[in-house]
Amino acid sequence: MKNIREYLKDTTITQWALGHFNFSENEALRAIIESAAGLKVPIFVGTSEGERKHLGIKEVVALVKAFREEFEIPIFLNADHHKSFETVKEAVDAGYDAILADFSALPFEENIKLTKQSVEYAKSKNPDILVEGELGYVRGESKIQEVIEIKQEDLTKPEEASQFVRETGIDMLAPAVGNIHGIVTKSKESIDVSRISDIKKAVGENVFLVLHGGSGMSESDFKNAIDAGISMVHINTEIRVAFTEELRKTLREMPEETTPYKILAPSVEAMKKVIEEKLKIFGSVNKL
Ligand SMILES: [Zn+2]
Repeated sequence: MKNIREYLKDTTITQWALGHFNFSENEALRAIIESAAGLKVPIFVGTSEGERKHLGIKEVVALVKAFREEFEIPIFLNADHHKSFETVKEAVDAGYDAILADFSALPFEENIKLTKQSVEYAKSKNPDILVEGELGYVRGESKIQEVIEIKQEDLTKPEEASQFVRETGIDMLAPAVGNIHGIVTKSKESIDVSRISDIKKAVGENVFLVLHGGSGMSESDFKNAIDAGISMVHINTEIRVAFTEELRKTLREMPEETTPYKILAPSVEAMKKVIEEKLKIFGSVNKL
């Protein structure tokens, strides 16, 4: 089995992307891992601060460890969008494999300062940990929204990306390239592919680009983004929607059922369908 860095390196050589999916309970995690194991793909699983709080940080780490032992595929645990040094520190100390130290809401210099502080702490505790920073403003939340207007100043500038990477020492960068978090129903997402190539050139071959807000993007958007230099794609909303819609349907169809695992089983299958479809689009099948 390769390590995380080797997989990331490989994504840039043969143009594919690692899938990153979020979970906040055992069902989503099982759906992600079973899909990945079935298709023989290395996989990232992530918890935001809220998702991690719901399950419990020790429980998150222990569950992922158990799934690794059971399925024997590379599963990397990421602390997604951790927005304070305190929560970053907690995730590092708990044994996460990667963290997204997200200070993108702060002014550029402050973002650099706190991201650098996160890198230094993380690497001092675990030299193999991967640290991702975020630059630019990826709007939206992990849910269905009507319209999100993206402003030109939200987008990541290649020259700032280069300075950011140099000064912080991050391993991965989440840029804003026209993508948004969640799904929009009344406006269209459009990815600035040439900006991705320019940012990739600016950050160099040893810093890997992560595309957030993959939910709602088309197959051709993904392929173009990956060809331009994206190494990992985050999906959250689409599996949340699959889970919830199937759960509502199950509850309607089985009003007498009270066994939680029977009520939840169809939702796991619905999430697996979405996850498998994405992993195929990302070109990550049989990459173990
Ligand atoms: Zn994100």
